[in-house]
Amino acid sequence: MKLFDSHAHYDDSAFDADRETLLKALPGQGVAGVVNMGCDLDSSRFAVRLAEQYPYIFAAVGIHPGNAQLYSEEAETQLAELAAHPRVIAIGEIGLDYHWPEPGRELQRCAFRAQLALARRLGLPVCVHDRDAHAETMEILSAFPDVRGVLHCYTGAREMAKELTDRGWYIGFTGVVSFKNAKKTRLVAESVPLSRILVETDCPYMAPEPLRGTRSDSSMLVHTLRAIAAVRAMEPEALAQAVYQNTRRFYGLDE
Ligand SMILES: [Zn+2]
Repeated sequence: MKLFDSHAHYDDSAFDADRETLLKALPGQGVAGVVNMGCDLDSSRFAVRLAEQYPYIFAAVGIHPGNAQLYSEEAETQLAELAAHPRVIAIGEIGLDYHWPEPGRELQRCAFRAQLALARRLGLPVCVHDRDAHAETMEILSAFPDVRGVLHCYTGAREMAKELTDRGWYIGFTGVVSFKNAKKTRLVAESVPLSRILVETDCPYMAPEPLRGTRSDSSMLVHTLRAIAAVRAMEPEALAQAVYQNTRRFYGLDE
């Protein structure tokens, strides 16, 4: 099965002990591509370095909503400089996270809007994080109709997924889709158009069943794809092939 991890965090300290060994082993496990996200300036730089080092890794750069207080004009200038690198293929991860009280919501909204504007200016797609902020995420995205993106680790309702895919957006599924209690996410996985599905590890988190709770890595996408294929009554191999092509199309890797 040919795997493309559309959203990973290999800069995370969970990989410090064995990052190189693990990343070098990925192609042998069927992993043909990985997009490493940036969550602040340091991790965005780290993502670019990984992408320079490994031909199958690409970088996204951005400030995560959990770090929204770090967003400034200076930070934006640096993100734009990083984004000029040929291995940077998206702005992310950006968005809203209302699960925690800090950073404040207005700070998060400002950083989100500014980075959507940056993506529009640079002509790059965006990787969006939305936790407990569905309505405001949709409201802000509506103000940027020409920005394309993926809603990663999708946990919203079927109706919202339909609205997004109708607008040409993609839906990113993590290992959560394989969890026993994730009925709602499986309903989404069943109903979205095949051409709009991406899979991701969001590693080191969200390892799929039967590996739930362990440190995840891109080779585990096999299980995520099997879980989605089961609800769609499809061959996992055919799904993997479609998702691989979706990912390349979404990130503009075929142009
Ligand atoms: Zn993430």
